[in-house]
Amino acid sequence: MTAPKKLYVKTYGCQMNVYDSERMAEALGQQGYVETTDMAEADMILLNTCHIREKAAEKVYSELGRLKPLREAKPDLKIGVAGCVAQAEGAEIMARQPMVNLVVGPQAYHRLPAMMEAVDRGETALDTDFPEEDKFLHLPAGRKPARGPTAFLTVQEGCDKFCAFCVVPYTRGAEVSRPVDRLMREARDLVERGVREITLLGQNVNAYHGQGPDGEWGLARLIREMAGIDGLDRIRFTTSHPNDMDDDLIAAFGDCEALMPYLHLPVQSGSDRILKRMNRSHTAESYLTLIERLRAARPDLLLSGDFIVGFPEETDEDFQATLDLIEAARYGAAYTFKYSPRPGTPAAERPQVPDAIADDRLQRLQALITRQQRAAQEAMVGKETTVLFEKPGRMAGQMVGKSEHLHAVHVDGPETLKGRIARVRIIEAGPNSLGGVLA
Ligand code: SF4
Repeated sequence: MTAPKKLYVKTYGCQMNVYDSERMAEALGQQGYVETTDMAEADMILLNTCHIREKAAEKVYSELGRLKPLREAKPDLKIGVAGCVAQAEGAEIMARQPMVNLVVGPQAYHRLPAMMEAVDRGETALDTDFPEEDKFLHLPAGRKPARGPTAFLTVQEGCDKFCAFCVVPYTRGAEVSRPVDRLMREARDLVERGVREITLLGQNVNAYHGQGPDGEWGLARLIREMAGIDGLDRIRFTTSHPNDMDDDLIAAFGDCEALMPYLHLPVQSGSDRILKRMNRSHTAESYLTLIERLRAARPDLLLSGDFIVGFPEETDEDFQATLDLIEAARYGAAYTFKYSPRPGTPAAERPQVPDAIADDRLQRLQALITRQQRAAQEAMVGKETTVLFEKPGRMAGQMVGKSEHLHAVHVDGPETLKGRIARVRIIEAGPNSLGGVLA
């Protein structure tokens, strides 16, 4: 019997890439590959790349450069590049790094087995198409036990919004929603494999409009249907656009018990002038009104956001408006970025804010967010919450899991807590996690 070939997947960027990596590993499983966490023993290395961060392509080329000695020591080693950098750079990757055997864009993963057959014949394989067929229908469903009690499930891909700073509409293509029956099957399958919490993913997840048995379903209806799956206790979704937060979805935070009280709702700026230049098509006021409605439906909702500081032409007044919005909205978490131009996006061509000014604004914004985050964590002390335990903690005898509000929580408890949901009383708040006791 021949030994299985080993696959090492390195994932960069967002949760959607984590999900995609798992599905690609399953697709390559059909070619006889089993995953390894040891790069040195791999027969194939697949880099699943992300184009969101600054100089993303250069970082991929550096990573490929670091793989050179491995390939020299092991000439049969296959190297593949997937994800958004693969989509954006295409054949350029193979031209600059001839040791790469395969380049596959995010919409062509289901063609991986055929591409690998070509690679095994000694050819190179490149596919950055946006094919008509739904790639997910052609990817194998997972059969292994789940990696833990939480899982991601991509329900929607792509984006039609064209924010002036973002490459997603170019690398992931137009919005596509997966059909309800397929998602329900996949969700049930995950639960049978031990999953108790599913995070529904999409670049614009609340724009979901998948085909249901009686017409198109929105995200709220899909969540309510999934909440009926026996054994599925928690549902989350990310990432959302304020303009797609419809009445039914707002109501679901109040009446759907399985929908957790945590929402990542990027606003990017608090200045209407900048929001317009970003092509965000909402205002600071409409965003704050939306937050009020969400908190009316679910008073303990923990809000998370995304902010870009130093967007082209951002003035001190614009930046102050962002700080004012943060004060008003009260965030429990946020991702903060200094603007950096992405080639091919409209904002890349506009007058840039000097680095020193943008750095200073970023620091001030991060200080405010950190204060709010701490306040949200300290407000939990003395309260009871449920925690889904995922793994042992760093200290002996400790277990760690996530609260309803997505706070990491550690308690003293047995390993048998793994995969279970238990009530916990929070007794302390640290900078990055909460400490509690089983209630
Ligand atoms: S809505 Fe999000 S994914 Fe779409 S263009 Fe804007 S930032 Fe990018």
